[in-house]
Amino acid sequence: MTARIQTEQELWEKIAALGLSEDDPQLPGIVCSLIGHSRIQTYGFWYYYCARCGTQLGDTLAGVYSGAEKAVIVGHDCDICRANYEELTWRDKFMVDDPFKKEKSTAATVDK
Ligand SMILES: [Zn+2]
Ligand SMILES: [Zn+2]
Repeated sequence: MTARIQTEQELWEKIAALGLSEDDPQLPGIVCSLIGHSRIQTYGFWYYYCARCGTQLGDTLAGVYSGAEKAVIVGHDCDICRANYEELTWRDKFMVDDPFKKEKSTAATVDK
């Protein structure tokens, strides 16, 4: 029996018990297996991906992706994403960057 992880503290204790370090490349996937995928997601080519572990979560081509309307799309920054963001918990934000963080300008957009 594994008790459901309720707090970030418990999660870190679980990670420590597994002998994983904070920068272990496997950590994001393990975190998702412990607490579920983040509702912060990236979207591209009709597919949604977990912003934490990169797993493909659903696609909008084959049918309706049930998680889409609750998802916060990285870099999207629309009213729906903003509203959904308010619903997120630490489980969604753990090890996931701020989805509304402005990306550093790329070379294509820098110079005036
Ligand atoms: Zn995930
Ligand atoms: Zn949006």
